[in-house]
Amino acid sequence: MSTADGAEALFQQAPCGYLTTTDDGTITRANDTFLDWAGYRRGDLLGTSVLRLLPVGDRILFSTHCLPQLLTAGAVSEVVVDVVAADRSRRACLLTATRSPAAGDRAAELRIIVFSIPERRAYEQELVATLHRAEASEAARVRAEEDLRRQALRDALTGLPNRAGLDAELTHRLAGAPAPFGLLFVDLDHFAAVNASLGTAAGDELLGVVAGRLRASVRESATVARLSGDEFVVADQLDAAAAVALAQRVQAALGVPLVVQGLEIVVSASVGVAVTASPEDTAERLLHHAAVAVHRAKAAGRRRVEVHDPACTDVAVDRLRLLGELRRAVAGGELRLHYQPRIGLAAGTMTGVEALVRWQHPERGLLPPAAFIDVAEESGLVRELGAWVLDTAVAQAARWADDPAHRTVEMAVNVSTRQLADPGLVAAVTAVLARHGLDPRLLVLEVTETALVTDPETAAATLHALKALGVGIAVDDFGTGYASLTYLQRFPVDELKIDRSFVMGLGVNDGDDAIVATCVQLAHAMGIRAVAEGVETEGQRLALVGMDCDFVQGYLFARPLTAGALEDWAPVDRTRDERAPVRTAG
Ligand code: C2E
Ligand code: CA
Ligand code: CA
Repeated sequence: MSTADGAEALFQQAPCGYLTTTDDGTITRANDTFLDWAGYRRGDLLGTSVLRLLPVGDRILFSTHCLPQLLTAGAVSEVVVDVVAADRSRRACLLTATRSPAAGDRAAELRIIVFSIPERRAYEQELVATLHRAEASEAARVRAEEDLRRQALRDALTGLPNRAGLDAELTHRLAGAPAPFGLLFVDLDHFAAVNASLGTAAGDELLGVVAGRLRASVRESATVARLSGDEFVVADQLDAAAAVALAQRVQAALGVPLVVQGLEIVVSASVGVAVTASPEDTAERLLHHAAVAVHRAKAAGRRRVEVHDPACTDVAVDRLRLLGELRRAVAGGELRLHYQPRIGLAAGTMTGVEALVRWQHPERGLLPPAAFIDVAEESGLVRELGAWVLDTAVAQAARWADDPAHRTVEMAVNVSTRQLADPGLVAAVTAVLARHGLDPRLLVLEVTETALVTDPETAAATLHALKALGVGIAVDDFGTGYASLTYLQRFPVDELKIDRSFVMGLGVNDGDDAIVATCVQLAHAMGIRAVAEGVETEGQRLALVGMDCDFVQGYLFARPLTAGALEDWAPVDRTRDERAPVRTAG
């Protein structure tokens, strides 16, 4: 359709009647709308006077009022008149007209627009409705834009500010608030295990509950955000003491059991606390300090609060002194090995031991590995320490294997992340086995999930080489890292040692029950053994029997013992009751 055709169609089908006339009112055009409305044929009107369409009273009005005004002002608007239709009935309408004066060889022209009043009303209503719609859609657009802006700064799952939202809020708050300002980095313990064993839907549900509890346990003014995964942040105007108190309140709030997908779960969190020390402390620095603190909290175990220490130098000095002492201890024979029995759950007999290092400190007494392993690992001294442990443990295992008076048992030795990364490890193990003449099948090396994740390529190569020697491989502290089943299948693993923190919750925390059961199933699906560590109660043992766990280790059976004490030790037969239930006489 051409523009001219388009204009003609618009003229003909306009929502109102159109007439054009000469200056003296002779009709030159009439549109379809007018003809339809008034019932005329075009031929009836063209060439006749427009006045014939009006009743007598309105003719006078038009001639004396409208025409002069059109000639002088060029326009009249909305004059109420009646139009006489072809059937002689009168139709009330509004008449609006404009005059275009003569130009060149074109004569002057009147354009008359006729709106029937009902049409006009409908038109007005439509106009008003359209305006309303436009306003509503404008409001909706504004709302949508706001939503979008909010979403960009919010986490969709919990509705809390996300990383970007937190940055924005903190920057704003730190600029406006006088010090001190406190920030809590809240990291759920073992969330990965919940996700892995109960599924991501359960994980999402749990995160939602956690978000709600965090919000509910802080002041209205506090900022609560979700950084990523299972990491949350709470920030508010707090000094160090108030921040620690809040951290404890948050932990208590999170610790109330909750039901997720029909399972009762107890959530715990590690919290790192940091407080602004100077006006120069940025949001980023505060967050970093809190992250360092939470890292320490997690390393120290579940459910802990650690405060970032700006005077870390003191700790560094202490660590340096400790390192010096430990170096002398390794060389000077102050290290000891204790052996903790491992029990076959079905038979109730000891099948092996785990070698656990201790430090006989000249002033501080017998120290557990927690007091020095970190320092050894960080400094690299763990290589020498590890070499001593390996040599001592293999020598002991060989003595027991050669002694007819003693049962032959497997010897499990812990291998740290750094040791596993050491290119000399395979050669060292080969040499130690040869030196003491131990059957390689009696040695199990325990590596942590974290060590496998740190450098998987090297770890896989090393483990395959160790495997080729005939040595067994166990994944220690299983469930605390992030290794998935497919991930683990890359490594030649013989057993999974389920972390003590899950075993602890057996029978009291449905979530832990599910996690342990899943770990056992996982091990069996991979065709390897499941070992539960840290078994302290008969209830835990029975739960593990029900899950078909293969081996157990824990204070319920024995604490780590010296070699001499172990030789005198024999397990209590706890399976007897199961084989032949005790009947009461009578
Ligand atoms: P791990 O390998 O997970 O060792 C198990 C720890 O749990 C041992 O603590 C053991 O005494 C403790 N344990 C065993 N049964 C129970 C129980 O029923 N309840 C409780 N509450 N605890 C129980 P330990 O000997 O203090 O060792 C702590 C960690 O130090 C070990 O954890 C291991 O990661 C590390 N470690 C110990 N010896 C060595 C070593 O020779 N080399 C290396 N690299 N790390 C070692
Ligand atoms: Ca271990
Ligand atoms: Ca362990």
